[in-house]
Amino acid sequence: QPVILWFRRDLRLADQKALTAAAGSGSPVIPVYILDDETPKHRKMGGASRWWLHHSLASLDDDLKKAGSRLLLRHGKSEEVLASLVNETGASAIHCIRHYEPWWRNAEKAVAKALPADCAFYCHDGNYLLPPGSVTAGSGGQYKIYTPFMRALWQHMPPSDPLPAPKNIPAPQNWPKSETIADWNLLPTRPDWAGGMRDMWKPGEAGAKARLEAFADKARHYDEKRNLPSVAGSSFLSPHLHFGEISPATCWHRTMSAGGSVDVFLKELIWRDYAQNVICQFPEYGSKNARDTFDKMPWRDLDDPAVKADFVAWTKGQTGYPIVDAGMRQLWTTGWMHNRVRMIAASFLIKHLLIDWRAGEQWFWDTLVDADYGSNAVNWQWTAGSGVDSNMFVRIMAPLSQSEKFDAARYIREWVPELSDLREPYIHDPEEHGVRPKAYPRKLIGHKQARERALAAFSETKD
Ligand code: FAD
Repeated sequence: QPVILWFRRDLRLADQKALTAAAGSGSPVIPVYILDDETPKHRKMGGASRWWLHHSLASLDDDLKKAGSRLLLRHGKSEEVLASLVNETGASAIHCIRHYEPWWRNAEKAVAKALPADCAFYCHDGNYLLPPGSVTAGSGGQYKIYTPFMRALWQHMPPSDPLPAPKNIPAPQNWPKSETIADWNLLPTRPDWAGGMRDMWKPGEAGAKARLEAFADKARHYDEKRNLPSVAGSSFLSPHLHFGEISPATCWHRTMSAGGSVDVFLKELIWRDYAQNVICQFPEYGSKNARDTFDKMPWRDLDDPAVKADFVAWTKGQTGYPIVDAGMRQLWTTGWMHNRVRMIAASFLIKHLLIDWRAGEQWFWDTLVDADYGSNAVNWQWTAGSGVDSNMFVRIMAPLSQSEKFDAARYIREWVPELSDLREPYIHDPEEHGVRPKAYPRKLIGHKQARERALAAFSETKD
């Protein structure tokens, strides 16, 4: 009797506990990926994620073939597809890695119910440093704030050693039918907006390993460089980690083994675990203010054409603030944005334009290759101040001084070619210095005026 291996955001063979368990059972293994756009409240993947998924699945199929196996593709509601596959194949068990997005938790419950009594369902851990929900405070409660969570998790580190990829995965005598990846139309056609992504990324486990290797020796300089958008100082592992093409334990051990102090990097990796812990406690974090006084915030109305025009200008990198525009164009072209610039661009939307953080969260969801329900929502709510941690609303970032402080001139020249002839310090604020080229837009709103408007709006959220 075969066993089924259900892949989701864990598209790797190394350190994949569900695969190790399935292959170790001695039974033939049927690996399957289900394109599920139907489970209720399931957030459909955005365009950039779908592009990534296409390539990642193709790469996983190649890797499985090298191990004597292959990847079956099906689409539909997870529990229905799995129940019918069990029926078709007589499988005795399903193995998967546990996921924490609210729709996946519901789907896991539905799968457990839908299976016949003689088919076991095993959910393994392994996509996080520790299973979300397992690090608890002394009183047994869950942590809401990052720093105490990080300190508590740190006590349990390092994570256990990564498991090797199995060399051979036992195959069934007859393979059930599979859809083809082309059937799913995951890639953009007209227009093909993915050129910049193809240039920058190599989705799949081999691409993830290559990124980690390239970064490991630089990890000790991460602290000095990570905030400088003009320098490639971070790991670029986020989409690989999101799709589970590499495990966080592998990243932990590899960067530690390179020597030097890499704690600052490891603490960023812990942010990823923290975000999952938050969505475990607050499953609606992507759509609801955690701090309900924010329900009273007088956001500008996106149905008003002038507000909509401001929002569109933000998405297109046409705000008149070079650092924001550089970031938004980098995002559109490559599916990724530097972390410091994500903070500046998000703060600009929320505070300078006074537009509800949820509109920005949705835009990022659609355009980021690393779009992740937990990490995206946690960072947007953190920037807004509406989240479970400290209220940051009044910390209104000044994009122009951030741009100077973090030395963003080269970054701006790369992404905003209209400004490429400008020298420092003019490039950070061409309008103020009277050197704004005609092709570059005026500021949507001045910093001082925006700040006053935002603070006035915030005062309405107070009881
Ligand atoms: P590195 O700096 O090399 O960090 C290593 C890894 O740690 C990252 O790959 C990521 O998995 C994790 N990490 C680092 N910082 C954070 C953080 N603040 N929160 C959660 N995990 C973190 N990250 C996502 O993975 N998906 C998202 O959808 C996402 N949305 C964001 C939205 C906003 C408004 C902001 C401010 C940040 C967001 N981030 C998100 C966090 C962060 O910007 C990215 O993880 C980081 O820029 C990815 O680049 P890197 O892999 O080079 O990161």
